[in-house]
Amino acid sequence: MNKKTFTLGIFGGGQLGKFLVQSAKKLNIRTFVFTDSIDSPAIYHSDDFIISNYKNKKKLDFFIKNIDLATFEFENIPFQTLDYVEKKITVSPKPSIIRILQDRLKEKNFLNSIGIKTTEFYYLKKVNKRKINNSFFPAFVKTTRFGYDGKGQIFFKDKKNFLKYSFKNNEYIIEKLVNFKKEISIVISRNKSKTVAFDAFENLHKHQILQKSKIPANISRKLNNEAKEISKKIIDKLNYIGTMCVEFFVTKENKLLVNEIAPRVHNSGHLTLNAYNVSQFENHIRAVCNLKLKKPKRIYQATMYNILGFDIEKYRSKNITKNEFFYDYGKKEIKDKRKMGHLTKII
Ligand code: ADP
Ligand code: MG
Repeated sequence: MNKKTFTLGIFGGGQLGKFLVQSAKKLNIRTFVFTDSIDSPAIYHSDDFIISNYKNKKKLDFFIKNIDLATFEFENIPFQTLDYVEKKITVSPKPSIIRILQDRLKEKNFLNSIGIKTTEFYYLKKVNKRKINNSFFPAFVKTTRFGYDGKGQIFFKDKKNFLKYSFKNNEYIIEKLVNFKKEISIVISRNKSKTVAFDAFENLHKHQILQKSKIPANISRKLNNEAKEISKKIIDKLNYIGTMCVEFFVTKENKLLVNEIAPRVHNSGHLTLNAYNVSQFENHIRAVCNLKLKKPKRIYQATMYNILGFDIEKYRSKNITKNEFFYDYGKKEIKDKRKMGHLTKII
């Protein structure tokens, strides 16, 4: 393999990886994808790829030998893998930070310790279930790790149902339901010298999966700036290099609660591909490669719609107008609720 130019290694081969690879190409950066799935959209665009279990040391050694730096498109890469790679090459953002953000309990404790408000919660291992007040319900029980798109979550209307449920283990938190006014997110990038953030995206979820995101979010300038300041405080405190997404609930009283942080580029930021001067993907590549970050400037109003499961078939035969951008991720297998593509409409 030819390793004359800078090569960025990316763990994970999904649509986020595919957009990262395409952004890297624009910046003349070679990419090498390491994925554990044969159905990985990113591998059709990267310069090289490996399909292997994430713990295969031989494959990891080959990967490390042929890249200059590693990053990832999803946070659930095994710790052993990230630790192994980090001993030999820089991984950005740092695995020690991912350890915090991969775990809902550690993440919430960290946020609260720096004075940032989250939803009210208990760690099931450390609480007497019977002592939780009736008024705490309705509530969501969430696995501390590996949850996404609502996976690993159970909703309890009342305490009676909660007490009847037998949990496999105690690695859960229970979180009070927030009667939010809306959900927003901030995508923010940081390199060694600077931080830049997009204005808030307004997000609508259906069955706990993102359905659509729009810009500008219908919130006050003050709230938008507050969300950006909170996100800046988080990324600075963590000394984080790369792009992250902070998801917020806006309460009925116009207060912000952090729901969770994704230590990577995020679905709600897809519309930056078409509606901004720079995409979240390009700024992630710039951040980890310590290139100059681009200050985001919005060009259009836009709405992004996720296309899940078999809905993709309708879109494949739909007429796309000049103000619409259709992305088919090219996944081979269509599965119910699987993210298959998205459509962004600009105004
Ligand atoms: P995931 O990792 O699956 O994205 P989230 O915690 O972000 O997990 O939950 C997905 C969605 O479910 C949220 O965006 C929100 O719409 C809803 N949800 C989760 N927790 C709560 C809560 N405590 N109160 C109200 N809605 C919630
Ligand atoms: Mg979420």
